Amino acid sequence: MFENLKPQPADKILALMQMYRDDPREQKVDLGVGVYKNAEGVTPVMRAVKVAEQRIIDEQATKAYTGLAGDPAYADAMIDLILGNAVERDKIAAAATPGGTGAVRQAFELIKMANPGARVFVSDPTWPNHVSILKYVGIEAVVYRYFDASTGAVNFDGMLEDLKGAKEGDVVLLHGCCHNPTGANLNSTQWQAVVELLNERGLIPMVDIAYQGFGDGLEEDAAGVRLVASSVPECLIAASCSKNFGIYRERTGLLMAISQQGDAEGLNQKTLAYLNRQNYSFPPDHGARVVTTILNDPELRADWKQELEETRLGMLALRQQLADELQRLSGSDRFGFIAEHRGMFSLLGTTPELVEKMRVDAGIYMVGDSRLNIAGLNAQSVPVLAKAIIDAGV
Ligand code: PMP
Repeated sequence: MFENLKPQPADKILALMQMYRDDPREQKVDLGVGVYKNAEGVTPVMRAVKVAEQRIIDEQATKAYTGLAGDPAYADAMIDLILGNAVERDKIAAAATPGGTGAVRQAFELIKMANPGARVFVSDPTWPNHVSILKYVGIEAVVYRYFDASTGAVNFDGMLEDLKGAKEGDVVLLHGCCHNPTGANLNSTQWQAVVELLNERGLIPMVDIAYQGFGDGLEEDAAGVRLVASSVPECLIAASCSKNFGIYRERTGLLMAISQQGDAEGLNQKTLAYLNRQNYSFPPDHGARVVTTILNDPELRADWKQELEETRLGMLALRQQLADELQRLSGSDRFGFIAEHRGMFSLLGTTPELVEKMRVDAGIYMVGDSRLNIAGLNAQSVPVLAKAIIDAGV
Protein backbone atom coordinates (compact mmCIF):
# COMPACT_ATOMS: atom_id res chain seq x y z
CA MET A 1 0.00 0.00 0.00
CA PHE A 2 2.81 2.43 0.73
CA GLU A 3 3.59 2.72 -2.97
CA ASN A 4 0.35 4.68 -3.26
CA LEU A 5 1.59 7.49 -1.00
CA LYS A 6 2.34 10.83 -2.56
CA PRO A 7 4.88 13.25 -1.13
CA GLN A 8 3.18 15.91 0.99
CA PRO A 9 4.30 19.54 0.83
CA ALA A 10 7.32 20.13 3.07
CA ASP A 11 6.97 22.56 5.98
CA LYS A 12 8.57 25.73 4.64
CA ILE A 13 9.61 27.02 8.04
CA LEU A 14 11.41 23.79 8.95
CA ALA A 15 13.25 23.85 5.62
CA LEU A 16 14.27 27.45 6.31
CA MET A 17 15.57 26.48 9.76
CA GLN A 18 17.83 23.88 8.18
CA MET A 19 19.22 26.43 5.70
CA TYR A 20 19.91 28.78 8.60
CA ARG A 21 21.83 26.10 10.47
CA ASP A 22 23.90 25.37 7.36
CA ASP A 23 24.78 29.05 6.79
CA PRO A 24 28.37 29.72 8.01
CA ARG A 25 27.96 33.54 8.20
CA GLU A 26 28.32 35.01 11.67
CA GLN A 27 25.90 37.88 11.23
CA LYS A 28 23.04 35.62 10.08
CA VAL A 29 19.67 36.35 11.70
CA ASP A 30 16.92 33.75 12.18
CA LEU A 31 13.51 35.37 11.97
CA GLY A 32 11.74 32.27 10.72
CA VAL A 33 10.45 29.91 13.35
CA GLY A 34 7.44 30.80 15.52
CA VAL A 35 8.89 30.51 18.99
CA TYR A 36 9.81 33.27 21.42
CA LYS A 37 13.51 33.82 21.93
CA ASN A 38 15.17 36.13 24.43
CA ALA A 39 18.08 38.46 23.62
CA GLU A 40 20.49 35.51 23.90
CA GLY A 41 18.51 33.56 21.32
CA VAL A 42 17.21 31.12 23.93
CA THR A 43 13.60 29.97 24.39
CA PRO A 44 13.65 29.86 28.18
CA VAL A 45 11.61 27.72 30.56
CA MET A 46 9.66 30.33 32.54
CA ARG A 47 10.44 30.62 36.25
CA ALA A 48 6.92 29.76 37.38
CA VAL A 49 6.88 26.73 35.08
CA LYS A 50 10.05 25.38 36.72
CA VAL A 51 8.55 25.77 40.19
CA ALA A 52 5.21 24.26 39.18
CA GLU A 53 6.92 21.28 37.55
CA GLN A 54 8.98 20.61 40.66
CA ARG A 55 5.86 20.84 42.79
CA ILE A 56 4.07 18.37 40.53
CA ILE A 57 6.98 15.92 40.72
CA ASP A 58 7.02 16.18 44.51
CA GLU A 59 3.29 15.99 45.08
CA GLN A 60 1.75 13.99 42.25
CA ALA A 61 0.51 10.68 43.68
CA THR A 62 -0.72 9.05 40.48
CA LYS A 63 -0.48 9.19 36.74
CA ALA A 64 -3.72 7.34 36.16
CA TYR A 65 -5.91 8.67 33.34
CA THR A 66 -7.65 12.01 33.77
CA GLY A 67 -11.05 12.62 32.12
CA LEU A 68 -11.53 12.47 28.37
CA ALA A 69 -11.86 16.24 28.34
CA GLY A 70 -8.79 16.58 30.58
CA ASP A 71 -8.76 17.80 34.16
CA PRO A 72 -11.80 20.06 34.75
CA ALA A 73 -9.65 22.32 36.96
CA TYR A 74 -7.51 23.11 33.89
CA ALA A 75 -10.57 24.10 31.86
CA ASP A 76 -11.82 26.28 34.73
CA ALA A 77 -8.46 28.05 35.13
CA MET A 78 -8.14 28.67 31.39
CA ILE A 79 -11.72 29.85 31.00
CA ASP A 80 -11.07 32.34 33.78
CA LEU A 81 -7.85 33.52 32.11
CA ILE A 82 -9.36 33.89 28.64
CA LEU A 83 -12.94 34.91 29.29
CA GLY A 84 -12.85 36.34 32.81
CA ASN A 85 -16.52 36.56 33.71
CA ALA A 86 -17.73 37.47 30.20
CA VAL A 87 -19.74 34.23 29.88
CA GLU A 88 -21.45 32.11 32.54
CA ARG A 89 -19.58 28.88 33.15
CA ASP A 90 -22.59 26.64 32.45
CA LYS A 91 -22.75 27.92 28.89
CA ILE A 92 -19.22 26.75 28.13
CA ALA A 93 -18.22 23.24 27.10
CA ALA A 94 -14.46 22.77 27.19
CA ALA A 95 -11.89 20.07 26.52
CA ALA A 96 -8.13 19.94 26.84
CA THR A 97 -6.35 19.28 23.55
CA PRO A 98 -2.78 18.61 22.41
CA GLY A 99 -1.75 22.24 21.89
CA GLY A 100 -3.67 24.98 20.15
CA THR A 101 -3.33 22.98 16.94
CA GLY A 102 -5.28 20.15 18.57
CA ALA A 103 -7.99 22.63 19.54
CA VAL A 104 -8.14 23.98 15.99
CA ARG A 105 -8.36 20.48 14.56
CA GLN A 106 -11.10 19.39 17.01
CA ALA A 107 -13.03 22.60 16.33
CA PHE A 108 -13.03 21.89 12.61
CA GLU A 109 -14.17 18.32 13.23
CA LEU A 110 -16.97 19.63 15.44
CA ILE A 111 -18.06 22.04 12.70
CA LYS A 112 -18.08 19.21 10.19
CA MET A 113 -20.19 17.04 12.52
CA ALA A 114 -22.66 19.79 13.38
CA ASN A 115 -23.02 21.35 9.95
CA PRO A 116 -21.37 19.47 7.10
CA GLY A 117 -22.24 22.25 4.64
CA ALA A 118 -20.56 25.03 6.62
CA ARG A 119 -17.64 26.84 5.05
CA VAL A 120 -14.91 28.44 7.12
CA PHE A 121 -13.88 32.00 6.26
CA VAL A 122 -10.18 32.64 6.88
CA SER A 123 -8.19 35.86 6.74
CA ASP A 124 -5.83 36.54 3.86
CA PRO A 125 -3.28 35.61 4.99
CA THR A 126 -3.72 33.35 8.01
CA TRP A 127 -1.65 30.78 9.89
CA PRO A 128 -1.02 28.23 7.09
CA ASN A 129 -2.08 25.32 9.32
CA HIS A 130 -5.63 26.70 9.37
CA VAL A 131 -5.87 26.24 5.64
CA SER A 132 -4.10 22.89 5.47
CA ILE A 133 -6.12 21.34 8.32
CA LEU A 134 -9.38 22.58 6.79
CA LYS A 135 -8.39 20.90 3.56
CA TYR A 136 -7.43 17.71 5.38
CA VAL A 137 -10.71 17.62 7.30
CA GLY A 138 -12.63 18.32 4.08
CA ILE A 139 -14.09 21.73 4.84
CA GLU A 140 -14.22 24.45 2.22
CA ALA A 141 -12.07 27.44 3.16
CA VAL A 142 -13.07 30.86 1.84
CA VAL A 143 -10.60 33.71 2.09
CA TYR A 144 -11.56 37.19 3.30
CA ARG A 145 -9.39 40.24 2.68
CA TYR A 146 -7.43 41.20 5.78
CA PHE A 147 -3.92 42.60 5.36
CA ASP A 148 -3.26 45.70 3.32
CA ALA A 149 0.39 45.44 2.26
CA SER A 150 0.49 49.10 1.23
CA THR A 151 -0.26 50.35 4.76
CA GLY A 152 0.70 47.36 6.91
CA ALA A 153 -2.73 47.63 8.55
CA VAL A 154 -6.02 45.74 8.34
CA ASN A 155 -8.09 46.33 5.21
CA PHE A 156 -11.22 46.52 7.29
CA ASP A 157 -13.62 47.63 4.57
CA GLY A 158 -12.45 44.74 2.40
CA MET A 159 -12.82 42.34 5.32
CA LEU A 160 -16.42 43.36 6.03
CA GLU A 161 -17.33 43.30 2.38
CA ASP A 162 -15.98 39.77 1.96
CA LEU A 163 -17.65 38.51 5.14
CA LYS A 164 -20.94 39.70 3.70
CA GLY A 165 -20.50 36.89 1.17
CA ALA A 166 -20.88 34.31 3.97
CA LYS A 167 -24.20 32.56 4.34
CA GLU A 168 -26.04 31.68 7.53
CA GLY A 169 -24.23 28.95 9.43
CA ASP A 170 -20.83 29.63 7.87
CA VAL A 171 -17.95 29.99 10.31
CA VAL A 172 -15.67 33.03 10.52
CA LEU A 173 -12.21 32.29 11.88
CA LEU A 174 -10.72 35.25 13.76
CA HIS A 175 -7.39 35.61 15.55
CA GLY A 176 -8.02 36.68 19.14
CA CYS A 177 -4.90 38.87 19.21
CA CYS A 178 -1.40 39.11 17.76
CA HIS A 179 -2.49 38.01 14.28
CA ASN A 180 -0.21 35.37 12.77
CA PRO A 181 1.46 36.07 10.36
CA THR A 182 0.69 39.76 9.89
CA GLY A 183 0.84 41.37 13.37
CA ALA A 184 -2.06 43.64 12.29
CA ASN A 185 -5.07 43.46 14.58
CA LEU A 186 -8.63 44.70 14.87
CA ASN A 187 -9.27 47.64 17.20
CA SER A 188 -12.24 47.62 19.58
CA THR A 189 -14.54 49.50 17.18
CA GLN A 190 -13.72 46.98 14.48
CA TRP A 191 -14.38 44.01 16.79
CA GLN A 192 -17.75 45.56 17.56
CA ALA A 193 -18.56 45.94 13.86
CA VAL A 194 -17.57 42.31 13.20
CA VAL A 195 -19.84 41.14 16.02
CA GLU A 196 -22.74 43.10 14.51
CA LEU A 197 -22.14 41.53 11.12
CA LEU A 198 -21.93 38.03 12.64
CA ASN A 199 -25.26 38.52 14.36
CA GLU A 200 -26.94 40.14 11.36
CA ARG A 201 -25.96 37.26 9.10
CA GLY A 202 -26.16 34.33 11.50
CA LEU A 203 -22.46 33.51 11.18
CA ILE A 204 -20.60 31.48 13.78
CA PRO A 205 -17.29 32.90 15.03
CA MET A 206 -14.33 30.73 15.83
CA VAL A 207 -11.61 32.59 17.70
CA ASP A 208 -8.07 31.22 17.71
CA ILE A 209 -6.14 32.75 20.59
CA ALA A 210 -2.53 31.62 20.74
CA TYR A 211 -0.67 34.70 22.03
CA GLN A 212 -2.65 36.13 24.95
CA GLY A 213 -0.27 38.43 26.84
CA PHE A 214 2.10 38.98 23.89
CA GLY A 215 0.28 42.03 22.49
CA ASP A 216 -1.12 44.76 24.75
CA GLY A 217 -1.38 42.73 27.96
CA LEU A 218 -3.28 39.70 29.28
CA GLU A 219 -6.60 41.48 29.78
CA GLU A 220 -6.31 43.73 26.73
CA ASP A 221 -5.51 40.81 24.43
CA ALA A 222 -8.64 38.99 25.56
CA ALA A 223 -11.01 41.93 24.96
CA GLY A 224 -11.96 40.84 21.44
CA VAL A 225 -12.67 37.22 22.30
CA ARG A 226 -14.64 38.31 25.38
CA LEU A 227 -16.76 40.66 23.31
CA VAL A 228 -17.47 37.97 20.73
CA ALA A 229 -18.20 35.25 23.29
CA SER A 230 -20.65 37.42 25.22
CA SER A 231 -22.44 38.85 22.17
CA VAL A 232 -23.25 35.92 19.88
CA PRO A 233 -25.51 32.88 20.37
CA GLU A 234 -22.78 30.35 19.64
CA CYS A 235 -19.03 30.37 19.21
CA LEU A 236 -15.89 28.28 19.28
CA ILE A 237 -12.61 29.23 20.91
CA ALA A 238 -9.30 27.44 20.31
CA ALA A 239 -6.61 28.42 22.81
CA SER A 240 -2.92 27.60 23.10
CA CYS A 241 -0.61 27.78 26.12
CA SER A 242 2.50 27.15 24.03
CA LYS A 243 3.60 30.79 23.80
CA ASN A 244 2.38 32.55 26.91
CA PHE A 245 3.58 29.74 29.20
CA GLY A 246 6.55 28.84 26.97
CA ILE A 247 5.57 25.15 27.04
CA TYR A 248 5.63 24.49 23.31
CA ARG A 249 6.56 20.83 23.46
CA GLU A 250 4.13 19.97 26.25
CA ARG A 251 1.20 20.31 23.80
CA THR A 252 -1.25 22.26 25.91
CA GLY A 253 -4.43 23.70 24.43
CA LEU A 254 -8.13 24.07 25.13
CA LEU A 255 -11.18 23.99 22.90
CA MET A 256 -14.31 25.78 24.08
CA ALA A 257 -17.78 25.55 22.57
CA ILE A 258 -20.07 28.28 23.90
CA SER A 259 -23.80 28.20 23.55
CA GLN A 260 -26.01 30.90 25.07
CA GLN A 261 -28.88 28.40 25.01
CA GLY A 262 -27.04 26.69 27.83
CA ASP A 263 -25.83 23.16 27.65
CA ALA A 264 -28.65 21.50 29.56
CA GLU A 265 -28.01 17.92 28.44
CA GLY A 266 -24.30 18.39 28.34
CA LEU A 267 -24.42 17.55 24.65
CA ASN A 268 -21.66 19.95 23.70
CA GLN A 269 -19.45 18.74 26.54
CA LYS A 270 -20.08 15.10 25.68
CA THR A 271 -19.32 15.77 22.03
CA LEU A 272 -15.97 17.37 22.84
CA ALA A 273 -15.08 14.37 25.01
CA TYR A 274 -16.22 12.04 22.23
CA LEU A 275 -14.02 13.83 19.69
CA ASN A 276 -11.02 13.51 22.00
CA ARG A 277 -11.78 9.81 22.41
CA GLN A 278 -11.86 9.19 18.68
CA ASN A 279 -8.68 11.05 17.91
CA TYR A 280 -6.29 10.38 20.80
CA SER A 281 -8.39 9.43 23.80
CA PHE A 282 -7.08 11.29 26.87
CA PRO A 283 -5.35 14.60 26.11
CA PRO A 284 -1.83 15.28 27.44
CA ASP A 285 -1.85 16.28 31.09
CA HIS A 286 1.56 17.55 32.14
CA GLY A 287 1.41 20.99 30.53
CA ALA A 288 -2.21 21.43 31.58
CA ARG A 289 -1.28 20.60 35.17
CA VAL A 290 1.59 23.10 35.08
CA VAL A 291 -0.76 25.81 33.80
CA THR A 292 -3.40 24.97 36.42
CA THR A 293 -0.80 25.01 39.20
CA ILE A 294 0.46 28.43 38.12
CA LEU A 295 -2.93 30.03 37.58
CA ASN A 296 -4.32 28.78 40.91
CA ASP A 297 -1.37 29.84 43.05
CA PRO A 298 -1.33 33.62 43.62
CA GLU A 299 2.45 33.81 44.01
CA LEU A 300 3.25 31.70 40.93
CA ARG A 301 0.59 33.50 38.93
CA ALA A 302 2.07 36.88 39.83
CA ASP A 303 5.57 35.75 38.89
CA TRP A 304 4.36 34.25 35.60
CA LYS A 305 2.53 37.49 34.76
CA GLN A 306 5.64 39.49 35.49
CA GLU A 307 7.86 37.36 33.28
CA LEU A 308 5.26 37.39 30.51
CA GLU A 309 5.05 41.17 30.79
CA GLU A 310 8.86 41.46 30.51
CA THR A 311 8.68 39.31 27.39
CA ARG A 312 5.94 41.47 25.90
CA LEU A 313 7.71 44.73 26.64
CA GLY A 314 10.97 43.36 25.23
CA MET A 315 9.27 42.62 21.91
CA LEU A 316 7.64 46.06 21.87
CA ALA A 317 11.02 47.71 22.42
CA LEU A 318 12.50 45.74 19.50
CA ARG A 319 9.57 46.80 17.30
CA GLN A 320 10.17 50.44 18.18
CA GLN A 321 13.93 50.18 17.62
CA LEU A 322 13.39 48.56 14.21
CA ALA A 323 10.78 51.13 13.15
CA ASP A 324 13.08 53.97 14.29
CA GLU A 325 16.09 52.54 12.49
CA LEU A 326 14.09 52.09 9.29
CA GLN A 327 12.79 55.62 9.60
CA ARG A 328 16.35 56.90 9.92
CA LEU A 329 17.66 54.89 6.95
CA SER A 330 14.71 55.45 4.62
CA GLY A 331 13.92 59.01 5.68
CA SER A 332 10.24 58.09 5.64
CA ASP A 333 7.53 56.76 7.93
CA ARG A 334 6.55 53.94 5.65
CA PHE A 335 7.77 51.29 8.11
CA GLY A 336 5.91 52.84 11.06
CA PHE A 337 3.45 49.93 10.97
CA ILE A 338 6.11 47.68 12.54
CA ALA A 339 5.74 49.63 15.79
CA GLU A 340 1.94 49.48 15.51
CA HIS A 341 1.81 45.71 15.02
CA ARG A 342 1.42 43.47 18.04
CA GLY A 343 2.63 40.02 18.97
CA MET A 344 5.59 38.03 17.81
CA PHE A 345 5.16 38.61 14.08
CA SER A 346 5.07 41.35 11.49
CA LEU A 347 4.44 40.93 7.82
CA LEU A 348 6.69 43.23 5.82
CA GLY A 349 4.42 42.82 2.83
CA THR A 350 7.20 42.39 0.30
CA THR A 351 7.82 39.84 -2.46
CA PRO A 352 9.39 36.36 -2.14
CA GLU A 353 12.17 37.63 -4.46
CA LEU A 354 13.21 40.36 -2.03
CA VAL A 355 12.93 37.95 0.91
CA GLU A 356 15.30 35.65 -0.97
CA LYS A 357 17.62 38.57 -1.76
CA MET A 358 17.86 39.47 1.93
CA ARG A 359 18.72 35.86 2.72
CA VAL A 360 21.41 35.58 0.03
CA ASP A 361 22.94 39.05 0.49
CA ALA A 362 22.66 39.57 4.23
CA GLY A 363 21.87 36.21 5.89
CA ILE A 364 18.39 37.32 6.96
CA TYR A 365 16.11 34.30 7.29
CA MET A 366 12.41 35.08 7.16
CA VAL A 367 9.50 33.09 5.80
CA GLY A 368 8.86 33.61 2.07
CA ASP A 369 5.66 35.57 2.70
CA SER A 370 7.94 38.16 4.43
CA ARG A 371 6.85 37.34 7.99
CA LEU A 372 9.46 38.24 10.54
CA ASN A 373 9.62 36.93 14.07
CA ILE A 374 10.39 40.02 16.14
CA ALA A 375 11.61 37.80 18.99
CA GLY A 376 14.36 36.52 16.70
CA LEU A 377 15.97 39.98 16.95
CA ASN A 378 18.06 41.64 19.62
CA ALA A 379 19.41 45.18 20.00
CA GLN A 380 22.51 44.25 17.93
CA SER A 381 20.73 42.53 15.05
CA VAL A 382 18.03 45.20 14.56
CA PRO A 383 20.40 47.53 12.63
CA VAL A 384 21.61 44.57 10.54
CA LEU A 385 18.02 43.76 9.55
CA ALA A 386 17.10 47.39 8.91
CA LYS A 387 20.09 47.82 6.61
CA ALA A 388 19.26 44.59 4.76
CA ILE A 389 15.66 45.74 4.25
CA ILE A 390 16.76 49.08 2.80
CA ASP A 391 19.64 47.59 0.75
CA ALA A 392 17.26 45.06 -0.81
CA GLY A 393 14.99 47.90 -1.88
CA VAL A 394 11.92 46.85 0.09
N1 PMP B 1 -2.96 29.25 16.23
C1 PMP B 1 -2.07 30.12 15.78
C2 PMP B 1 -2.54 31.34 15.08
C3 PMP B 1 -0.72 29.90 15.99
O1 PMP B 1 0.17 30.80 15.53
C4 PMP B 1 -0.30 28.74 16.67
C5 PMP B 1 1.15 28.49 16.90
N2 PMP B 1 1.98 28.54 15.83
C6 PMP B 1 -1.28 27.85 17.13
C7 PMP B 1 -2.60 28.14 16.89
C8 PMP B 1 -1.03 26.57 17.85
O2 PMP B 1 0.12 26.34 18.48
P1 PMP B 1 0.42 25.04 19.31
O3 PMP B 1 -0.25 23.88 18.66
O4 PMP B 1 1.89 24.93 19.29
O5 PMP B 1 -0.13 25.27 20.69
